[in-house]
Amino acid sequence: MVHGVVVKSTGSWYKVRTPDGQVYDCRLKGKFRQKGIKSTNPVAVGDEVAIKLSDDNSENVITDIADRKNALIRKSTKLSKQTHIIASNVDQIVIISSIVDPKVAFGFIDRILVSAEAYRIPALIVFNKFDLCRSDPAIDTLAEALAIYDLAGYPVLLTSTKTGKGLEEFKALLHDKYSVLTGQSGVGKSSLINAIQSNLDLKTADVSGYNDKGQHTTTFAEMHELDFGGFITDTPGLRSFGVVDFEKEHLSHYFPEMRERIQDCKFNNCMHINEPGCAIKKAVEEGEIAGRRYDNYIEMLNDDSFQKQF
Ligand code: GDP
Ligand code: ZN
Repeated sequence: MVHGVVVKSTGSWYKVRTPDGQVYDCRLKGKFRQKGIKSTNPVAVGDEVAIKLSDDNSENVITDIADRKNALIRKSTKLSKQTHIIASNVDQIVIISSIVDPKVAFGFIDRILVSAEAYRIPALIVFNKFDLCRSDPAIDTLAEALAIYDLAGYPVLLTSTKTGKGLEEFKALLHDKYSVLTGQSGVGKSSLINAIQSNLDLKTADVSGYNDKGQHTTTFAEMHELDFGGFITDTPGLRSFGVVDFEKEHLSHYFPEMRERIQDCKFNNCMHINEPGCAIKKAVEEGEIAGRRYDNYIEMLNDDSFQKQF
Protein backbone atom coordinates (compact mmCIF):
# COMPACT_ATOMS: atom_id res chain seq x y z
CA MET A 1 0.00 0.00 0.00
CA VAL A 2 1.27 3.46 -0.96
CA HIS A 3 0.12 6.81 0.42
CA GLY A 4 -0.18 10.04 -1.49
CA VAL A 5 -2.07 13.29 -2.00
CA VAL A 6 -4.68 13.89 -4.69
CA VAL A 7 -3.40 16.74 -6.89
CA LYS A 8 -5.94 16.56 -9.69
CA SER A 9 -9.36 15.12 -10.22
CA THR A 10 -11.44 14.79 -13.34
CA GLY A 11 -14.33 13.09 -11.63
CA SER A 12 -13.44 9.63 -12.85
CA TRP A 13 -9.63 9.77 -12.79
CA TYR A 14 -7.42 11.12 -10.06
CA LYS A 15 -3.78 12.09 -10.07
CA VAL A 16 -2.12 11.07 -6.82
CA ARG A 17 1.32 12.37 -5.85
CA THR A 18 3.42 10.19 -3.60
CA PRO A 19 6.04 11.68 -1.21
CA ASP A 20 8.84 10.83 -3.67
CA GLY A 21 7.28 13.20 -6.22
CA GLN A 22 5.84 10.53 -8.53
CA VAL A 23 2.33 11.12 -9.85
CA TYR A 24 0.03 8.19 -10.56
CA ASP A 25 -3.27 8.05 -12.40
CA CYS A 26 -5.75 6.26 -10.18
CA ARG A 27 -9.35 5.27 -10.18
CA LEU A 28 -11.79 4.79 -7.35
CA LYS A 29 -12.66 1.29 -6.32
CA GLY A 30 -16.27 0.35 -6.95
CA LYS A 31 -17.25 0.11 -3.33
CA PHE A 32 -15.29 3.12 -2.11
CA ARG A 33 -16.67 4.44 1.19
CA GLN A 34 -17.00 8.20 1.39
CA LYS A 35 -15.84 9.81 4.60
CA GLY A 36 -16.81 13.06 6.30
CA ILE A 37 -19.33 15.36 4.66
CA LYS A 38 -21.46 14.02 1.83
CA SER A 39 -20.35 15.63 -1.41
CA THR A 40 -20.79 15.17 -5.14
CA ASN A 41 -17.08 14.30 -5.31
CA PRO A 42 -16.06 11.57 -2.86
CA VAL A 43 -12.38 12.37 -3.31
CA ALA A 44 -11.06 15.93 -3.67
CA VAL A 45 -7.80 17.71 -4.36
CA GLY A 46 -5.76 17.77 -1.15
CA ASP A 47 -7.09 14.47 0.13
CA GLU A 48 -4.57 12.09 1.61
CA VAL A 49 -5.26 8.67 0.18
CA ALA A 50 -3.98 5.14 0.16
CA ILE A 51 -3.45 3.67 -3.29
CA LYS A 52 -2.83 0.21 -4.67
CA LEU A 53 -0.61 0.24 -7.74
CA SER A 54 -0.91 -2.30 -10.52
CA ASP A 55 2.13 -3.66 -12.36
CA ASP A 56 1.71 -1.51 -15.48
CA ASN A 57 -0.06 1.37 -13.65
CA SER A 58 -3.18 0.85 -15.76
CA GLU A 59 -5.32 -0.26 -12.86
CA ASN A 60 -4.15 1.82 -9.94
CA VAL A 61 -6.89 2.30 -7.39
CA ILE A 62 -7.55 4.58 -4.43
CA THR A 63 -8.47 2.27 -1.60
CA ASP A 64 -8.85 4.57 1.37
CA ILE A 65 -8.98 8.23 2.35
CA ALA A 66 -7.66 9.77 5.57
CA ASP A 67 -9.84 12.01 7.74
CA ARG A 68 -9.70 15.57 6.48
CA LYS A 69 -8.27 18.45 8.51
CA ASN A 70 -10.72 20.71 6.66
CA ALA A 71 -12.60 20.79 3.37
CA LEU A 72 -13.44 23.94 1.42
CA ILE A 73 -16.81 23.43 -0.18
CA ARG A 74 -19.28 25.16 -2.38
CA LYS A 75 -22.96 24.47 -2.53
CA SER A 76 -23.70 23.42 -6.10
CA THR A 77 -27.12 24.91 -6.63
CA LYS A 78 -29.70 26.47 -4.39
CA LEU A 79 -32.25 23.83 -5.33
CA SER A 80 -30.21 20.65 -5.11
CA LYS A 81 -28.25 21.81 -2.03
CA GLN A 82 -25.48 19.54 -3.20
CA THR A 83 -22.04 20.06 -1.80
CA HIS A 84 -18.85 19.96 -3.82
CA ILE A 85 -15.44 19.86 -2.18
CA ILE A 86 -13.07 22.32 -3.83
CA ALA A 87 -9.98 21.38 -1.84
CA SER A 88 -9.14 19.75 1.47
CA ASN A 89 -6.38 19.84 4.09
CA VAL A 90 -5.70 23.49 3.30
CA ASP A 91 -3.07 25.35 5.37
CA GLN A 92 -3.96 28.91 4.40
CA ILE A 93 -6.22 31.01 2.22
CA VAL A 94 -4.45 33.78 0.31
CA ILE A 95 -6.63 36.67 -0.82
CA ILE A 96 -5.03 38.66 -3.61
CA SER A 97 -6.30 42.15 -4.31
CA SER A 98 -5.12 45.36 -5.85
CA ILE A 99 -5.67 48.77 -4.29
CA VAL A 100 -6.45 50.50 -7.58
CA ASP A 101 -6.92 49.22 -11.12
CA PRO A 102 -9.14 47.46 -10.21
CA LYS A 103 -10.18 49.20 -7.02
CA VAL A 104 -9.99 47.12 -3.87
CA ALA A 105 -13.26 45.27 -3.16
CA PHE A 106 -13.53 45.26 0.62
CA GLY A 107 -16.83 43.37 0.47
CA PHE A 108 -15.21 40.52 -1.45
CA ILE A 109 -12.23 40.35 0.92
CA ASP A 110 -14.44 40.32 4.00
CA ARG A 111 -16.61 37.51 2.64
CA ILE A 112 -13.61 35.34 1.99
CA LEU A 113 -12.27 36.20 5.45
CA VAL A 114 -15.58 35.14 7.01
CA SER A 115 -15.38 31.78 5.26
CA ALA A 116 -11.76 31.36 6.34
CA GLU A 117 -12.75 32.05 9.96
CA ALA A 118 -15.63 29.60 9.77
CA TYR A 119 -13.17 26.94 8.60
CA ARG A 120 -10.53 28.10 11.11
CA ILE A 121 -8.05 28.36 8.25
CA PRO A 122 -5.48 31.17 8.54
CA ALA A 123 -5.87 33.91 5.93
CA LEU A 124 -3.27 36.14 4.32
CA ILE A 125 -4.12 39.29 2.38
CA VAL A 126 -1.83 40.33 -0.47
CA PHE A 127 -2.21 43.81 -1.92
CA ASN A 128 -0.57 43.65 -5.33
CA LYS A 129 0.21 46.53 -7.74
CA PHE A 130 1.88 48.47 -4.95
CA ASP A 131 3.75 50.41 -7.67
CA LEU A 132 0.44 52.12 -8.51
CA CYS A 133 0.08 53.48 -4.97
CA ARG A 134 2.18 56.58 -5.47
CA SER A 135 -0.39 59.34 -5.47
CA ASP A 136 -3.82 60.18 -4.13
CA PRO A 137 -6.35 58.64 -3.98
CA ALA A 138 -4.42 55.34 -4.17
CA ILE A 139 -2.27 56.26 -1.15
CA ASP A 140 -5.36 57.04 0.91
CA THR A 141 -7.06 53.80 -0.09
CA LEU A 142 -3.93 51.80 0.76
CA ALA A 143 -3.67 53.50 4.15
CA GLU A 144 -7.32 52.73 4.82
CA ALA A 145 -6.90 49.08 3.79
CA LEU A 146 -3.84 48.65 6.00
CA ALA A 147 -5.63 50.20 8.98
CA ILE A 148 -8.72 48.02 8.51
CA TYR A 149 -6.89 44.69 8.43
CA ASP A 150 -4.46 45.72 11.13
CA LEU A 151 -7.41 46.32 13.48
CA ALA A 152 -8.94 43.01 12.40
CA GLY A 153 -5.64 41.23 13.03
CA TYR A 154 -4.89 39.80 9.59
CA PRO A 155 -1.42 39.66 8.07
CA VAL A 156 -1.02 41.85 4.99
CA LEU A 157 1.71 41.72 2.36
CA LEU A 158 2.38 44.41 -0.24
CA THR A 159 3.66 43.24 -3.60
CA SER A 160 4.38 44.48 -7.08
CA THR A 161 5.19 42.26 -10.01
CA LYS A 162 6.53 45.35 -11.77
CA THR A 163 9.15 46.29 -9.15
CA GLY A 164 9.59 42.93 -7.44
CA LYS A 165 8.49 44.30 -4.08
CA GLY A 166 7.36 41.64 -1.62
CA LEU A 167 8.00 38.69 -3.93
CA GLU A 168 10.59 37.02 -1.71
CA GLU A 169 8.32 37.48 1.30
CA PHE A 170 5.45 36.01 -0.71
CA LYS A 171 7.52 32.93 -1.53
CA ALA A 172 8.49 32.56 2.12
CA LEU A 173 4.82 32.70 3.16
CA LEU A 174 3.86 30.01 0.65
CA HIS A 175 6.85 27.81 1.44
CA ASP A 176 5.97 24.25 2.46
CA LYS A 177 2.28 25.03 2.83
CA TYR A 178 -0.82 24.17 0.88
CA SER A 179 -2.35 27.52 -0.04
CA VAL A 180 -5.64 28.22 -1.76
CA LEU A 181 -5.50 31.45 -3.76
CA THR A 182 -8.44 33.65 -4.45
CA GLY A 183 -8.89 37.08 -5.96
CA GLN A 184 -10.99 38.95 -8.45
CA SER A 185 -9.83 39.00 -12.04
CA GLY A 186 -7.39 41.71 -13.03
CA VAL A 187 -5.67 42.05 -9.66
CA GLY A 188 -2.54 40.38 -11.04
CA LYS A 189 -2.93 36.92 -9.55
CA SER A 190 -1.50 35.15 -12.62
CA SER A 191 1.34 37.69 -12.88
CA LEU A 192 2.16 37.17 -9.21
CA ILE A 193 2.30 33.39 -9.53
CA ASN A 194 4.38 33.65 -12.69
CA ALA A 195 6.75 36.04 -10.94
CA ILE A 196 7.59 33.55 -8.21
CA GLN A 197 7.30 30.38 -10.23
CA SER A 198 8.00 29.83 -13.89
CA ASN A 199 6.41 27.13 -16.00
CA LEU A 200 3.26 26.91 -13.94
CA ASP A 201 0.13 26.66 -16.00
CA LEU A 202 -2.55 28.18 -13.84
CA LYS A 203 -5.14 27.93 -16.59
CA THR A 204 -7.51 25.90 -14.50
CA ALA A 205 -11.19 25.91 -15.11
CA ASP A 206 -13.44 28.31 -13.26
CA VAL A 207 -14.40 26.58 -10.05
CA SER A 208 -17.26 28.92 -9.21
CA GLY A 209 -19.70 26.39 -10.57
CA TYR A 210 -21.45 28.62 -13.09
CA ASN A 211 -20.42 29.47 -16.61
CA ASP A 212 -20.96 32.81 -18.41
CA LYS A 213 -24.54 31.90 -19.23
CA GLY A 214 -25.31 31.18 -15.60
CA GLN A 215 -25.46 27.43 -16.21
CA HIS A 216 -24.15 25.08 -13.63
CA THR A 217 -20.84 23.45 -14.44
CA THR A 218 -18.85 20.81 -12.66
CA THR A 219 -15.18 21.62 -12.70
CA PHE A 220 -12.35 20.55 -10.50
CA ALA A 221 -9.58 22.46 -8.86
CA GLU A 222 -5.97 21.46 -9.32
CA MET A 223 -3.08 21.44 -6.90
CA HIS A 224 0.19 22.82 -8.30
CA GLU A 225 3.56 22.07 -6.83
CA LEU A 226 5.91 25.02 -6.22
CA ASP A 227 9.53 24.33 -7.04
CA PHE A 228 10.68 26.06 -3.83
CA GLY A 229 8.39 23.84 -1.75
CA GLY A 230 4.67 24.03 -1.22
CA PHE A 231 1.45 23.66 -3.18
CA ILE A 232 -1.17 26.09 -4.46
CA THR A 233 -4.67 25.85 -5.84
CA ASP A 234 -6.28 28.72 -7.69
CA THR A 235 -10.02 29.32 -7.40
CA PRO A 236 -10.94 31.77 -10.14
CA GLY A 237 -14.44 33.10 -10.14
CA LEU A 238 -15.24 32.07 -6.61
CA ARG A 239 -17.04 34.70 -4.51
CA SER A 240 -16.86 32.87 -1.22
CA PHE A 241 -16.53 29.40 0.16
CA GLY A 242 -19.54 27.61 1.49
CA VAL A 243 -19.60 26.44 5.06
CA VAL A 244 -21.53 23.51 6.44
CA ASP A 245 -23.99 24.39 9.24
CA PHE A 246 -23.53 28.16 8.97
CA GLU A 247 -25.89 30.16 11.20
CA LYS A 248 -26.35 33.84 10.50
CA GLU A 249 -26.70 34.47 14.23
CA HIS A 250 -23.06 33.50 14.51
CA LEU A 251 -21.78 35.79 11.76
CA SER A 252 -20.06 38.13 14.23
CA HIS A 253 -18.04 35.16 15.54
CA TYR A 254 -16.31 35.13 12.16
CA PHE A 255 -15.03 38.68 12.57
CA PRO A 256 -12.10 38.26 15.02
CA GLU A 257 -12.25 41.86 16.23
CA MET A 258 -15.96 41.39 17.02
CA ARG A 259 -15.58 37.90 18.44
CA GLU A 260 -13.27 39.11 21.21
CA ARG A 261 -15.77 41.76 22.34
CA ILE A 262 -19.05 39.85 22.11
CA GLN A 263 -19.07 38.88 25.79
CA ASP A 264 -19.21 42.59 26.68
CA CYS A 265 -22.56 43.10 24.91
CA LYS A 266 -25.46 43.57 27.33
CA PHE A 267 -27.58 40.88 25.65
CA ASN A 268 -26.01 37.53 24.97
CA ASN A 269 -28.04 37.14 21.78
CA CYS A 270 -27.01 40.62 20.59
CA MET A 271 -26.81 40.88 16.79
CA HIS A 272 -25.00 44.23 17.10
CA ILE A 273 -27.54 46.11 14.99
CA ASN A 274 -29.11 48.63 17.37
CA GLU A 275 -29.47 46.80 20.68
CA PRO A 276 -28.69 48.88 23.80
CA GLY A 277 -25.38 48.20 25.52
CA CYS A 278 -23.75 46.75 22.40
CA ALA A 279 -19.98 46.52 22.82
CA ILE A 280 -19.47 46.12 19.08
CA LYS A 281 -21.22 49.36 18.15
CA LYS A 282 -19.31 51.12 20.92
CA ALA A 283 -16.01 49.80 19.55
CA VAL A 284 -16.96 51.00 16.06
CA GLU A 285 -17.77 54.47 17.43
CA GLU A 286 -14.44 54.55 19.26
CA GLY A 287 -12.52 53.49 16.17
CA GLU A 288 -11.43 50.13 17.57
CA ILE A 289 -13.37 48.25 14.90
CA ALA A 290 -13.19 49.62 11.35
CA GLY A 291 -16.49 51.12 10.22
CA ARG A 292 -16.11 49.44 6.86
CA ARG A 293 -15.79 45.99 8.42
CA TYR A 294 -18.90 46.66 10.50
CA ASP A 295 -20.79 47.89 7.41
CA ASN A 296 -19.83 44.69 5.57
CA TYR A 297 -21.02 42.66 8.56
CA ILE A 298 -24.43 44.37 8.35
CA GLU A 299 -24.51 43.88 4.59
CA MET A 300 -23.82 40.15 4.91
CA LEU A 301 -26.42 39.91 7.64
CA ASN A 302 -29.02 41.45 5.32
CA ASP A 303 -28.00 39.53 2.21
CA ASP A 304 -30.15 36.42 1.92
CA SER A 305 -28.25 35.07 -1.06
CA PHE A 306 -25.11 35.20 1.04
CA GLN A 307 -26.59 32.81 3.55
CA LYS A 308 -27.74 30.46 0.79
CA GLN A 309 -24.17 30.18 -0.42
CA PHE A 310 -23.27 28.95 3.01
P1 GDP B 1 -5.37 38.17 -12.95
O1 GDP B 1 -6.65 38.31 -13.71
O2 GDP B 1 -5.58 38.48 -11.50
O3 GDP B 1 -4.69 36.87 -13.15
O4 GDP B 1 -4.42 39.35 -13.44
P2 GDP B 1 -3.21 39.34 -14.49
O5 GDP B 1 -2.03 38.68 -13.89
O6 GDP B 1 -3.69 38.85 -15.80
O7 GDP B 1 -2.89 40.90 -14.55
C1 GDP B 1 -3.85 41.86 -14.96
C2 GDP B 1 -3.13 43.11 -15.42
O8 GDP B 1 -2.46 43.73 -14.32
C3 GDP B 1 -2.06 42.84 -16.47
O9 GDP B 1 -2.11 43.87 -17.40
C4 GDP B 1 -0.78 42.86 -15.66
O10 GDP B 1 0.34 43.26 -16.45
C5 GDP B 1 -1.08 43.90 -14.61
N1 GDP B 1 -0.31 43.73 -13.38
C6 GDP B 1 -0.09 42.57 -12.69
N2 GDP B 1 0.65 42.79 -11.60
C7 GDP B 1 0.91 44.13 -11.57
C8 GDP B 1 1.64 44.98 -10.68
O11 GDP B 1 2.20 44.57 -9.65
N3 GDP B 1 1.67 46.32 -10.99
C9 GDP B 1 1.04 46.82 -12.09
N4 GDP B 1 1.12 48.14 -12.31
N5 GDP B 1 0.35 46.05 -12.94
C10 GDP B 1 0.28 44.71 -12.71
ZN1 ZN C 1 -23.65 43.66 20.41
